[in-house]
Amino acid sequence: MTQSTLINPADETVVQVVAQTSIDEVDDAVARGVEAQVRWAALAPAARAEALRHFAEAVDGAVEQLAWLEVANSGHPITQARWEAGHVRDVLHYYSAAPERMLGAQIPVAGGIDLTFLEPLGVVGVIVPWNFPMTIASWGFAPALAAGNAVILKPAEWTPLTAMRLAQIATESGLPADLFQVLPGRGSVVGERLVAHENVRKIVFTGSTEVGKKVMAGCAEQVKAVTLELGGKSANVVFADSDLELAAATAPSAVFENAGQDCCARSRILVEQSVFERFMTLLEPAITAVAVGDPRNEDTQMGPLVSKAHLDSVTAYQPDDRDVAFRGSAPTGPGFWFAPTVVVPPNRIDRRVTEEIFGPVVTVLPFTDEADAIALANESIYGLSGSIFTRDVGRAIRVARGIQSGNLSVNSHSSVRYSTPFGGMKQSGLGRELGPDAAAAFTETKNVFISST
Ligand code: NAD
Repeated sequence: MTQSTLINPADETVVQVVAQTSIDEVDDAVARGVEAQVRWAALAPAARAEALRHFAEAVDGAVEQLAWLEVANSGHPITQARWEAGHVRDVLHYYSAAPERMLGAQIPVAGGIDLTFLEPLGVVGVIVPWNFPMTIASWGFAPALAAGNAVILKPAEWTPLTAMRLAQIATESGLPADLFQVLPGRGSVVGERLVAHENVRKIVFTGSTEVGKKVMAGCAEQVKAVTLELGGKSANVVFADSDLELAAATAPSAVFENAGQDCCARSRILVEQSVFERFMTLLEPAITAVAVGDPRNEDTQMGPLVSKAHLDSVTAYQPDDRDVAFRGSAPTGPGFWFAPTVVVPPNRIDRRVTEEIFGPVVTVLPFTDEADAIALANESIYGLSGSIFTRDVGRAIRVARGIQSGNLSVNSHSSVRYSTPFGGMKQSGLGRELGPDAAAAFTETKNVFISST
């Protein structure tokens, strides 16, 4: 049996050793999932809703425990980790309303009536990344279960602990056995097997664009449904007419939250030329004020990067002070630390501008006018999120419509609400999660004609 040793990113101590799932074990889990799904789908919708409410309540009772697990496993600041665990509870509550609202249609046709039914798909594979292990998992498993499916969740290699605990909590709360299984293991073993298995009828993949393309190709082999939530390189567009103090004060959390390991990170700040210097003057104290340190501390805003390998990857983009305007602070000693770093690159094609660094490095570039701002924001293979700071409502709408991105916010950097759709354009993804339609995305519409003659 292969094992994986999990390292605490803040102090490099061993957290836990986790057994890795084999291909045979994946196959067994899928077989059990197939049977569990049939029983689950046969329950009355109200009974499924009640089971999901109990699951949500059990997560609520375990918020503190889940949060501290995430602190140890992922290095997330405790206040952030509490929010993440609470978000899982809220997502479950929201989708517990779905089973009783899976409405079909009655369509007028000649010679009878036509009815449609939203039928569950069967077993759904949810493959998640390491940056928000609990929350992103819940965006897949909660609506999939609500729609009458069984779920097999594969957490990322580095961060399986909260997902594994959620599976236990599900069972303790009374969710039927084998309905929600969590299989820690390698992407090349568990992930690939879920994609290739003919009894897994949909894959929800969140991760890098590179792996997402492989997953999509694998799903094509069996005409399997797939949702892809992939990389990002989002723009934070600051116009001269905006509340510059607000834009500068919120820019650090828009990119450095979760140490920049955020698909929605606004890692390109674009500032109208006429206020560039003023914005930078306001930004510097906001950056140096970011509290970077021990994630167990209630006041910490930014923790370490998730692993040594990821620290090396981020450092390769910014190994020295080249083009650095200013930096925040970071602890020295054990742990995978990287200080918040603001870069003014020499041009728009620098790889720090075009590639997803996924760490606390932000580039700041000037633009000339509205058209230039939109063009610059769109100079990316990605299109996940973004912000627009302006006091002109008409401009806010024009620019929001002009930027090729799935989630935009005006005078804000909020991207994720469980009640609104979330997903990317271009190479940031395919399909939407969250919002009122997410459970239906885990069904197929069946059309039944009943003759009246
Ligand atoms: P990754 O693509 O390396 O891995 C994601 C998951 O896929 C992991 O569980 C991994 O084990 C698994 N995997 C790896 N190879 C596989 C394969 N061949 N078949 C099936 N599964 C496989 O991504 P990561 O490094 O864990 O996460 C960071 C990336 O995720 C960033 O690009 C980030 O932008 C993206 N992300 C996107 C969103 C979104 O909602 N759009 C959210 C969070 C993270």
